[in-house]
Amino acid sequence: MKCDVIFFGAHPDDVELGCGGTVHKLVRQGYTVGIVDLTRGELGTRGDEATRKAEAEEAARILGVAVRDNCGLTDGHLELNRENKAKVITMIRKYQPDLVILPYPSDRHPDHVNASRLIKECVYYAGTEKWPTGIPVSELPAFRPKSYLYYMLAEPFTPNLLVDITEEFDVRQKAFQAYKSQFFVPGHTSQDKETWISRPEFAESLVARVQFYGFQSGTRYAEPFFSEQPVRLDNLMTVAGRK
Ligand SMILES: [Zn+2]
Repeated sequence: MKCDVIFFGAHPDDVELGCGGTVHKLVRQGYTVGIVDLTRGELGTRGDEATRKAEAEEAARILGVAVRDNCGLTDGHLELNRENKAKVITMIRKYQPDLVILPYPSDRHPDHVNASRLIKECVYYAGTEKWPTGIPVSELPAFRPKSYLYYMLAEPFTPNLLVDITEEFDVRQKAFQAYKSQFFVPGHTSQDKETWISRPEFAESLVARVQFYGFQSGTRYAEPFFSEQPVRLDNLMTVAGRK
């Protein structure tokens, strides 16, 4: 299946907490959107693999994506090795996204850092015909996405792109709250041990973040992104909030 855009996460829930509003906005705009998680988040303190899988499927349904796939890499071991690269390159060739959205390369969680490096490298090598994935290019042709952007996870950075998600905010929250085993969800009680991300303050901080960037860009809620390359604008007035 050809996708216009693929959002990559190291763990199921990364995409939702970083940029779920933008995922849903692109779906509403009529694009074919996919999410690919590198791992099943099996090292998570709370929940188990089956619970996390069900939660990820529910979040994908809420966001309305065309596909959610998983590379099946090992949580906590996202090394930049040949085996991991072959799996990520295969996903890129399978979905042929013009745009890839990936975690920012600096973060407190080592998996997010490694995922960022791994995916960025694979965005390039997916277009290199002779890179040996084990699947012949006659079956799965080489494909290089046109561009990629980073989204924000644990560590703040200075963004150079902000996406207005005011109309998608409620869906963003619902998708985030699908991960009941991981995050604080009002009305839901869990016997699992409290973690940094299961505290109410974590959920609040994510709302505060999209409010902050919304205010900075003259809207209610916005999600931050970073482009390493200059971005072409077809209408310069969009920088002033005009159509
Ligand atoms: Zn994560």
